[in-house]
Amino acid sequence: MRPRHLIFALWGLILARALPVSAEDLRVEYEDGRRTAYLALSRLEKNNMEWFVSADALGRALDLERFWRPELRKLVFKVGERRIQVSVDTRLVLDEDRDLLLHVPVRYRGGSVMLPLEFIETVLDPASDGGIRLRRDELSVAVGRRETDIVRIEYDTRSGDTEVRIHMARAFRHRVQATSHELLRVHIFDAQIDPVTVAAERPAPLIRLMRAEQRGREAVLYLELDRRIDGYESQARNGGRTIVLVLQRPLEPMPLPEFKLPETVQSPTAVDQKRCNMVVLDAGHGGADGGVQGFGRSEKQLTLELAQRMKRILERKLDLRVELLRSSDRALTDDRRAELANKLDGTLLISLHCNGWFDPAASGFEVLFVGPQTMMSGDMMQRANSSELEDFRPWNTAQLPFAGRSQVLAQLLQIEMGRRLQIPNRGAKESDIDFLKGIAMPAVMVEVGFLTNPEEADTISGQAFADNVAEAVAIAVERYCEQFEAGELDLDRIGSAGVAPEPRGARR
Ligand SMILES: [Zn+2]
Repeated sequence: MRPRHLIFALWGLILARALPVSAEDLRVEYEDGRRTAYLALSRLEKNNMEWFVSADALGRALDLERFWRPELRKLVFKVGERRIQVSVDTRLVLDEDRDLLLHVPVRYRGGSVMLPLEFIETVLDPASDGGIRLRRDELSVAVGRRETDIVRIEYDTRSGDTEVRIHMARAFRHRVQATSHELLRVHIFDAQIDPVTVAAERPAPLIRLMRAEQRGREAVLYLELDRRIDGYESQARNGGRTIVLVLQRPLEPMPLPEFKLPETVQSPTAVDQKRCNMVVLDAGHGGADGGVQGFGRSEKQLTLELAQRMKRILERKLDLRVELLRSSDRALTDDRRAELANKLDGTLLISLHCNGWFDPAASGFEVLFVGPQTMMSGDMMQRANSSELEDFRPWNTAQLPFAGRSQVLAQLLQIEMGRRLQIPNRGAKESDIDFLKGIAMPAVMVEVGFLTNPEEADTISGQAFADNVAEAVAIAVERYCEQFEAGELDLDRIGSAGVAPEPRGARR
């Protein structure tokens, strides 16, 4: 005896003593609307709680032809074209050419062959292709082919998030599982689904593909998601008959009002390449300039390692070149960096730094940019407009035409990093940074974390952290490039007064 059977047997004994053998009915419910039938159930085994139903009554209720050989006490059911044979006092079932063993034998009582409910579950259900289904917990049988228990799926995007409502014929036990950022699986147990009617391409903005499959007794829905999705929630409504998935929309940078360039400044849209092709990475500090030192680590070394790792990951993920302004431990002045960067004429520049503060508790990442507000402050405008040499412009106004784009880039980086990094999100901030003012392309400075915070110094030196930063940067750059190549970042559409959205889920 297998241990499981022993447990069942013992359990059966205990229950048999504790409970009177009550008369229960098996409810037979027809999908075609016929009146529900009730068949008497009884327990026949001392050591087993299995219910038995009369083969005669069951055959009548299910419209199954029956053949009886009394001398051999064998009974044959016809289910469609299949013949299924049982014998009294044996557990053996002959189902066409496959033999099957029940857990309890078929019995003969009061002039009737008695079948355990297990027979419906393991023999009739598959033989009828799901046309006869036992719901053991309800002591009922559903008869008739229903195409699907998933009645319909609705998509609602009115709130800005995408709500997926899965309406079902009745309440089913289900489980929602996120296998990755891009795939949600909904398992609906004991449900039938018609994969063809459910499948949809781009049914809603955040869903790339909806598909389904029947996996045995389980219906599985797969939602392939837009990778920008911010998260999801699942709820049951309607007494469990509707599963609701709320897919949270990604944060978008705020639309910015119009932004007019001074006449002396050439608009980059005139000279722009219309494709993203190069990311310039600047590993902050170097050589004698070590940057922030903390807990045995120096900023110049960490930024270089991060830049090198990021270059590999970005080049693998995105179809563009990544150039480093320094790839060794050497000192570079800000002007030299700007000159090197401008000569490369990249699509955008990201300068990598670590933060430091007197209070070791300070923590988190932030993204800094010299936004339109700073670039167009009185002093800067004056300098941009009073170019003394024709065709020349003051060195540190180079960022002016790109300031709006830098802001968009900073916001995208802040959003994507906030989603992936387990340290606080200090936001995207406009900041008066001389180095960035000299860069003639959209440019931001990322402070990846605090080296003066012992715990954070540890975290941000790790490879997993570097990978997460690189992943976030790759997605932010990809999003930036989509907007850029679609012409959405042209200067008449981006401006000066934009405010970075509050970082969602910021932890302080
Ligand atoms: Zn620094």
